[in-house]
Amino acid sequence: MTVLFNFENTYADSLDGLYAAHTPAGYPAPDLLLYNEPLASELGLSKEIAQISGLFTGNVVDEQSKPLAQAYAGHQFGSFSGLLGDGRAVLLGEKVDVQGKRKDIQLKGSGPTPFSRRGDGKATLASALREYLISEAMYQLGVPTSRSLAVATTGESMIRRKVHPGAVLTRVASSHIRVGTFELFAATEETNKLRMLADYTIARHYRELANEKDKYERFLYAVGKRQGELVARWMLVGFIHGVMNTDNVTVSGETLDYGPCAFMNHYDENTVFSSIDRHGRYAYGNQPVIGQWNNQRLAIALLPLIVPAESENQDLAQDIVREAAVAFKSSFDDTWHTGMCQKLGIDEQHADSEDLIASFLHLLKSQEKDFTLSFRELSTELREPYYEKKNVRYQLDLEYVKWDKRWRKLVMGNPISTADDMDKINPLYIPRNHRVEEALEAAEEGDLTLFTTLYNAVTNPYLENETYAHLSTPAEKRDPNYRTFCGT
Ligand code: AMP
Ligand code: MG
Repeated sequence: MTVLFNFENTYADSLDGLYAAHTPAGYPAPDLLLYNEPLASELGLSKEIAQISGLFTGNVVDEQSKPLAQAYAGHQFGSFSGLLGDGRAVLLGEKVDVQGKRKDIQLKGSGPTPFSRRGDGKATLASALREYLISEAMYQLGVPTSRSLAVATTGESMIRRKVHPGAVLTRVASSHIRVGTFELFAATEETNKLRMLADYTIARHYRELANEKDKYERFLYAVGKRQGELVARWMLVGFIHGVMNTDNVTVSGETLDYGPCAFMNHYDENTVFSSIDRHGRYAYGNQPVIGQWNNQRLAIALLPLIVPAESENQDLAQDIVREAAVAFKSSFDDTWHTGMCQKLGIDEQHADSEDLIASFLHLLKSQEKDFTLSFRELSTELREPYYEKKNVRYQLDLEYVKWDKRWRKLVMGNPISTADDMDKINPLYIPRNHRVEEALEAAEEGDLTLFTTLYNAVTNPYLENETYAHLSTPAEKRDPNYRTFCGT
């Protein structure tokens, strides 16, 4: 036993009955494989921590930790699943970072918990590395997200679709409170617990609402606003979460649970990669609809706190559920429109802006153009117009030429950003599926070279670097059958 993290445990101390106290069993041979030094400094962690691999697999538990598995429920693919809970994760405690922000430190893949049901509670090295890579890429792309502090291998191998080395990811998040956490205590009709959870969450994430008379209702709309912003930010970088079940939706507004997520290549709003998403519920372009629906689930869960049962005011309840969707949608629309105008370098107030966005996306779809690179090329285009180039890429593409003329008129007529500004908004390096796959495969064979190079590129996504030229482009041969797997 040792004291290193200086943990606080407000969740454990304030929310008795909302979790199961649980100490991870540990693994045969912990070995710290990756450690995120910059994040460790932001958290104010001591240097010695990285010397003790067992801290990152649950073998060594900090003396000030009160490890626990959180209870939560969720709607999975549209149906209510009842109790789910942390089946393969343990919250070690909270660390107040150097900026005074409270962060959860959680082990993911640390073995079975009281909520594991038939699962083994474990994670493959590939899945831990995947989350480490993509969450840190998202962070550098400016998208609110949980982060990754470490990956440690366990010394065990495990069988999924093939044999994998086992690993544990150390995850850092503003909290792990989900829409599904509220749904659980609404479903069990434990209104006291529901209120305790809501008060705790408001104090932790929406402190400005704590003294408001209608704080629960405002909290609901505030979550919708943050989630609306979040989903728009995902879509502005071509991100598809893949499993937007309410147990994976935070009330803090951060991205959580990188399972089957992936980045879109050529633009198509119907793009789906997840093997379990057979009907495209969580397709790229369906994410705003699902986000609204999810916030309505939160509304329904919070109703006992907002509309007292004795009043049984059905109209009021319906209004609140409707407003929950509006809160999400209006925030999504604003963030999307502003973000798209920034990507195009145009004035968001301009009457033509909406049509320019829609027609650009239409062009990308009909011509099967890569989403990320097409935006990036606009700044090249601004520096050197296509008609001045010797090697005219779009020569035969009349539709593009037409669009380009309109766009250029707007950009030139009302210059609000330079090509350099646009390069700071439109990334060049994203974690492309084929590169992620090859890096994870090599890493599981013991070679981290590809992973490290990819990590370095995607965590510095805007600055062009010749060394990473091969990482900026989509796969040469498109694989329409490419699938990602949940919890692998
Ligand atoms: P996810 O699809 O990763 O969001 O997980 C949905 C639910 O399944 C959560 O309650 C997880 O804790 C649980 N779960 C997923 N994988 C495992 C596993 N290998 N062992 C135990 N529980 C798991
Ligand atoms: Mg989950």
